Amino acid sequence: MNPDNGIDLAGILGQAATMAQDVTFQSVRGWKAQHENAKAIGYFPVYTPVELIHAAGALPVGLNGAGDQLDIQHADARFGSFICSIVKTTMELALTGHLEPLDGMLFHSICDSARNLCFVYKRHFAENLYVDFLHLPHNPSSVASQEFLVSEYRRLKKNLENLTNRTVTDQDIRLAIKVYNENRRALSDLYRYRQEEPHMLPTAELYVLQRAGNFMPVEEHTQWLKAVRQALPNRPMKRRDSIRVVVEGSFCEQPPIGFIKILEGAGCYVVDDDFLLGKRWFTEDVPIGDDPIHDLAESYVQRSVYSSVRHDWRKPRFLGLVEKVKAGKADAVVFCLAKFCEPAFFDYVLFKRELEKEGIPHLLIEFEEKMFTFDRARTEIETFVESLLFE
Ligand code: SF4
Repeated sequence: MNPDNGIDLAGILGQAATMAQDVTFQSVRGWKAQHENAKAIGYFPVYTPVELIHAAGALPVGLNGAGDQLDIQHADARFGSFICSIVKTTMELALTGHLEPLDGMLFHSICDSARNLCFVYKRHFAENLYVDFLHLPHNPSSVASQEFLVSEYRRLKKNLENLTNRTVTDQDIRLAIKVYNENRRALSDLYRYRQEEPHMLPTAELYVLQRAGNFMPVEEHTQWLKAVRQALPNRPMKRRDSIRVVVEGSFCEQPPIGFIKILEGAGCYVVDDDFLLGKRWFTEDVPIGDDPIHDLAESYVQRSVYSSVRHDWRKPRFLGLVEKVKAGKADAVVFCLAKFCEPAFFDYVLFKRELEKEGIPHLLIEFEEKMFTFDRARTEIETFVESLLFE
């Protein structure tokens, strides 16, 4: 215990680090043991309306692949070699029985690989697992988008009601929106704090803290986030000679935690990032009105963060990146792109052109979930940092 404020910061961060890497889903098993007949629903990145799962009394479980915790022995046979790693490790998790605590799995239309993964799942596991595909609208500037998404959310709600054998009321959804708004606010608060005092909250810690939220009830996660925020100013941390960077491109497949540590160790203060992006999807609270499904759909269409897997003709994504750099007073952008991630590599060309127009330095590093050696990445980042520190 910390004598200053009674918050066991090291304990929370240690638990979060364990949960973030746990592919046996002990916390999900524990939750189910305490909630008789309750269901756990996995969801693939990037964005999922977790509020509807929560409103159905189920536990939403965010799957961001298996990182470096699982060898791919079976999934390779189901996909071409040019498919990103998260698709294969998500398949491997299911083929090796790791997803046994889950009762359902949700996918949505972020890219061809994710779409096909859903139907490969259906073919292999639909007998024992509820597998669903959510169509997210691709043209928010169309007036029909919102209406279309409302109908998709109502269809999803019906399927969740059938699975959980309970009726989901509007009040259930309002309550879920409230607790997720609180969670997003608490996360945003930590992101803001790191931006102001990056030496006080290393990104590797913020990352595991955020990722642990994939595997626990949102209310408990919010308590953790608030406790950490309260404890942070009392930490004895030293400032380092580092440049301030925005990390872009890791919105779906996640780099190894070792890679994030290398990034910081090589001289970068990460002042903003898109790791685990769906957790901070809305730019403002989702309003809580008479029709909460409409509120969720309207928020998706009108108040989402920019992302390479969300198309919005009203505002180019590269402007969102430039705004992020300016808001974070960043010196540079580090693109951390997953190997074979088409949406990220397509956007890289447009992002790069805009950054060059604005005179913002940038570096591209490609990663895979199962990277074990970081020597090359470290050298590239160190060289980049030195070129900026000593220019
Ligand atoms: S990492 Fe990229 S290509 Fe792979 S599933 Fe995610 S968005 Fe699609």
